[in-house]
Amino acid sequence: KFISFEGIDGAGKSSHIPWMADLLRGAGKSVVVSREPGGTPLGERLRAMLLGEPMSIDTELLLMTAARAEHLAQVIQPALDRGDIVLCDRFHDSSYAFQGGGRGISLDRLESLDKWCGGARPDLTFLFDVPTAEAQRRMDGSRDQKDRFETEAEGFHAAVRRVYLERAAAEPGRVVVIDSTQAIDAIRAELSGHVQKLVLG
Ligand code: C5P
Repeated sequence: KFISFEGIDGAGKSSHIPWMADLLRGAGKSVVVSREPGGTPLGERLRAMLLGEPMSIDTELLLMTAARAEHLAQVIQPALDRGDIVLCDRFHDSSYAFQGGGRGISLDRLESLDKWCGGARPDLTFLFDVPTAEAQRRMDGSRDQKDRFETEAEGFHAAVRRVYLERAAAEPGRVVVIDSTQAIDAIRAELSGHVQKLVLG
């Protein structure tokens, strides 16, 4: 099974991934944890470029997609073929939200690249949702240094959030929206309920 974790920057998704990996390993499952952009040596180099260097929006989308193609071929598909559970910090929904909502690239172009890249799709996606002002406060409090996405204006993050929520509404069977303003214990109770159903149930 393939589970992705999504949300605007500062939504607080990442701390739940190692926790979920431990939960599943405790239940005897083999788990692969990965992230996008990244997940392979080449993907991590692309990540450093994507986060550090200014570039045109088309280059950004193409490099994100290149990192995903490599990630699918080297990590995700082999893990799924072995029967492992894959937990991925961001996947294809991020491209629709950030390069589509945030940067304004057309849906047509995003869909054609997404189809062209092909490969496995998440069985379950957790969308950590938080108002943009709250996300901004969290980033101001927790990040020593912000990457070039995190320093975008609030309007950018609002557009990213809107696309995420639209995608969740369009695919309610796959995307579970988690109210990330809740206390950690409440969030984890929700997460474990969904994951038990998918993996352990
Ligand atoms: O979640 P994380 O901070 O690891 O993501 C790295 C950065 O890349 C984020 O700031 C995110 O906004 C950005 N990103 C993006 N488009 C994607 C995937 C990630 O803009 N398709």
